[in-house]
Amino acid sequence: MDLESMYQEVILDHYRNPRGRGLREPFDAEVMHVNPTCGDEITLRVAVGTDGEPVLKDVSYWNQGCSISQASASILCEELEGATVSEALAMTDEFVNLMHGEQVDEESLGDLIAFEGVAKYPARVKCALLAWMALKDAISQSHPDLAEPIDGDLTEISVADPQRHELNTD
Ligand code: ZN
Repeated sequence: MDLESMYQEVILDHYRNPRGRGLREPFDAEVMHVNPTCGDEITLRVAVGTDGEPVLKDVSYWNQGCSISQASASILCEELEGATVSEALAMTDEFVNLMHGEQVDEESLGDLIAFEGVAKYPARVKCALLAWMALKDAISQSHPDLAEPIDGDLTEISVADPQRHELNTD
């Protein structure tokens, strides 16, 4: 099995068996984000506690949309279980770098590396980043001192070639 097929398997596995899906209480902030290009939607909640430094006690979500957006949310939930807020924000930044086609530390991305190929398809990048922008927004709402608020659509990336939107893994 080549790398691309392996990555595809990771995405499909998370899509078919989403980890941690479902909205839970208690929570400190709830946000709802949509990706109008594809129709993906996510409602995401964070509960932030303190263990020497701020930690994500719980991230819960409910979503609908394409396989990429749903797999991304599932991986977010799995990778960030028990993470500190600064680790979560660092991973978000690194994932954005990956989606922008920049050099990244693959080790630090866990299963997120499976989305590497998505960077080639700007229309799908929004799908992959949706949950992560929602996370950042939720953190900024519950702890404004820790994350910049989301102004506008940070997932917006210019689409050089509209044909690329035709790629669909659903
Ligand atoms: Zn999508």
